Amino acid sequence: MAIGILNHRTRRSSAPHRGRIELDNVSMTYGTGAAASTALAPASLDIDAGSFVCLLGPSGCGKSTLLNCVAGYIWPTTGRARVDGAAIDAPGPDRGMVFQQYSLFPWKTVRENVAFGPRMTGASRREAREVADRLLEMVGLSRVARKYPAELSGGMQQRVGIARALANQPDVLLMDEPFGALDSQTRLIMQEHLLALWAEFRPTILFVTHDTDEAIFLADRVLLLSASPGQVLADIAIDLPRPRPADIVTDPAFIAIKRRCLATIRAESLKTFDGTGFRMARIPDSASSAGEHPS
Ligand code: ADP
Repeated sequence: MAIGILNHRTRRSSAPHRGRIELDNVSMTYGTGAAASTALAPASLDIDAGSFVCLLGPSGCGKSTLLNCVAGYIWPTTGRARVDGAAIDAPGPDRGMVFQQYSLFPWKTVRENVAFGPRMTGASRREAREVADRLLEMVGLSRVARKYPAELSGGMQQRVGIARALANQPDVLLMDEPFGALDSQTRLIMQEHLLALWAEFRPTILFVTHDTDEAIFLADRVLLLSASPGQVLADIAIDLPRPRPADIVTDPAFIAIKRRCLATIRAESLKTFDGTGFRMARIPDSASSAGEHPS
């Protein structure tokens, strides 16, 4: 394990790329009978190994449900999710998870939190410590290795959470609004930091957010989900060059993609106002008629 992580780049370049995610007609209905509620309409997706994909959609549209199906925390009502051809029926060390709430063990030090995964998968105490120290160095937290989570800021705790998720060298990293609780400045820095880690380790990342800028800045591909029950409305390739500087958000190419996303989101949001008599102003967006209110 320690050798693996210390020579991660070598390992990645020599090993065939892993972490392809396939969803075949995956849907999710919670409850049964009169209490049944469909959170996710049937979705079929093919996500390339090593790519960065964002699931973008309003609150409650089933983004976490989809992520949890890939994590193996829940079983879909229909269909199958697979990683590298293997059906997902339980969580596994090949898939790391990062939540919005940092979910670190409060009674363990920062180093112990990161070393926990390797220990669970059979690494010796010394190996696990080496892995943890290397990752803490990479996320810039070596100096707080002996502290406890409660002694750290939110951004630092989330960096520990990411280091912990990477400690098992997952092929897939699942991130559920990981920066949602952070202030906007910290969030931007965390986004840049995450891209640097992704470039280094190249797991497939499936990242949930309801922030359009965040999705476009990070992703190779944005999957836009409709309001409940969630279904994939648009599959948008983000062909902005990498590495992406923070000010790319002012680039005309970025803005053009954002307009397209916002027009689709707005058209979808307006559906929830149908029949209420509520009238929305028109957006003067000649690029899309989708943003206009149906009259
Ligand atoms: P998102 O991540 O987009 O906010 P979720 O996947 O968390 O959406 O939730 C989608 C819908 O499914 C919501 O209406 C939510 O209330 C419902 N839901 C989520 N988890 C459960 C559950 N365990 N039991 C019942 N309903 C659930």
